[in-house]
Amino acid sequence: MIRVLFCGEREADWLLLQTSLYGTNSIAPHFHLSWEPSLEGARRALLRNDSDVYLVDEGLGGGQGIELLSLLPSSITTPILLLSAGGVSLPEETLAIQAGAADVLLRDEVSPRQLRKAVVHALARASVAKRSTDIPCGVVPQGLLQQRLENALSRERLTRAKVALLAILVDHLQGSLERLTSAIAERLLSCSREVDTVCYTQAGQFLVLLEGLTHDAQADIQADRLLLALQAPLSLQGEELLPRVCIGIAVAPEDGETPTELIRSVEEALRNAQREGGRSARHALGPLNEKAQRRWLLRRALEGALERGEFSLHYQPQVELRNERVVGAEALLRWRSAQLGPVSPAEFIPLLEATNQIETIGLWVLHEACTQGRIWQDAGCPIKIGVNASAKQLTSPDFGPACEQILRQTGFSPELLGLEITEGLLLEGSSHVRELLNKLRSLGVSISIDDFGTGYASLSYIKRFPMDVIKIDKEFVRGVPLDVENAAITSAILALGHSLGLRVVAEGVEHDSELEFLRSLGCTAAQGFYYAKPMPCGEFESWVRSRN
Ligand code: C2E
Ligand code: MG
Ligand code: MG
Repeated sequence: MIRVLFCGEREADWLLLQTSLYGTNSIAPHFHLSWEPSLEGARRALLRNDSDVYLVDEGLGGGQGIELLSLLPSSITTPILLLSAGGVSLPEETLAIQAGAADVLLRDEVSPRQLRKAVVHALARASVAKRSTDIPCGVVPQGLLQQRLENALSRERLTRAKVALLAILVDHLQGSLERLTSAIAERLLSCSREVDTVCYTQAGQFLVLLEGLTHDAQADIQADRLLLALQAPLSLQGEELLPRVCIGIAVAPEDGETPTELIRSVEEALRNAQREGGRSARHALGPLNEKAQRRWLLRRALEGALERGEFSLHYQPQVELRNERVVGAEALLRWRSAQLGPVSPAEFIPLLEATNQIETIGLWVLHEACTQGRIWQDAGCPIKIGVNASAKQLTSPDFGPACEQILRQTGFSPELLGLEITEGLLLEGSSHVRELLNKLRSLGVSISIDDFGTGYASLSYIKRFPMDVIKIDKEFVRGVPLDVENAAITSAILALGHSLGLRVVAEGVEHDSELEFLRSLGCTAAQGFYYAKPMPCGEFESWVRSRN
């Protein structure tokens, strides 16, 4: 059975068309004709893509039937037959075909036989067009993508892995679009990860579903990679082709929570990219997508930020609780973007990690901190400096040798350097990380577990990984001892640390009462606004001087 949807205002037309299509065969008809009277309803029905052929009356929405065609994303491959009241000129008909109509029929003159034939032929042409492009296997049909998208979105709600959709439109200046399309499909497959789904929707257009992303920015990164790979010149049977590529990006849930919403966003993003012209990747615009826009801006602003000298380090003192002496400082990265002003580390550190820039910038931080540490050391005021290291850095084979080199170059005493590693990293930690930590410890560097207690997992890694210091996350310090739950967690962590012979440093201490509680439980040192906020180097020096 062929499912046909009539999009037109008048019920009488629908009934007439039904009679024409069903003919005498109304008991077991070859066709099923449903009806949608409003323009918006028709648009939504077409996006749902649940009919085989659409019959769109030009009178729909007060003469906007043809406009409906321009509202539709180019991924709609279902044939659309336009019904005209009569008297269409050739230029008008051409316009309708260019806008995407498969054919124009005269509503009041077309015979039942002509109508049935037109529907069947339009359907046949569409399926031949789909088949004639030589799309490599590995590229899935749209129905399958839709299904995978649905599954991915329901999984996303359970796990924290992100889902994104890319819409890719490939165009070229000359040559055969069909051959270009299959070559592009090959490139897409070779640049995609195994978990990604590549789908061909229609001439030159693809949808790519990205799953299991750990950060939103990974969608941008993958889009950039594809953009770069797809627009490289192609040589096809002696023909030199220069593909023009536009990519739209939509990330769940910001750009949509359901497959329909996400597809709508990505189509809109693609149209934005097309408007910008040529080789571009753009996010969907709109109120839902402010986060995505912000991410995009930040990524652009981060490019070259190090070279422009936009980064600096602030130092936050750590105070030994038994004698109130300043024993150390944590070096915290600060970014003042020329375009965006100061940006919080909570916002830019994950982006640096997702874009792999953290490796370079992390080494800059280490170098900067060790250089400063050496100056304090030479001034007879040695201060232990804690430097944060992210997972990406520690898993890189270059990190260990680079650390040694920086220590050698700056002459900073390794005993004064501490590396702060977040608990999450150790949970997924490999033997490489363990070896690296052992090596660094053998040089004298100490290892701290940062944000302790937020990793929510088995504590067995404590035995497996070499460490010296546990830093209690500020979340658990907040409000102790009045907050009885936090007080219980904090005292448990302190007891654990002591029994393992580790130093325990409390983070985020803001109040006297918190400090007293920590002191009474034998906490080694504390850091927090109670003593001082992280400060630029000069301010930190004056602060230390005034305390002593
Ligand atoms: P972290 O290592 O746990 O750093 C402690 C954070 O707590 C800092 O936030 C600090 O400003 C803040 N803090 C200190 N005392 C208090 C307090 O009394 N109350 C409250 N509410 N907050 C306090 P910041 O500077 O925004 O850094 C956030 C995170 O960014 C850091 O958490 C660290 O994970 C990361 N980060 C900072 N610099 C670097 C870096 O150079 N490399 C890497 N990989 N990560 C860094
Ligand atoms: Mg830290
Ligand atoms: Mg911390």
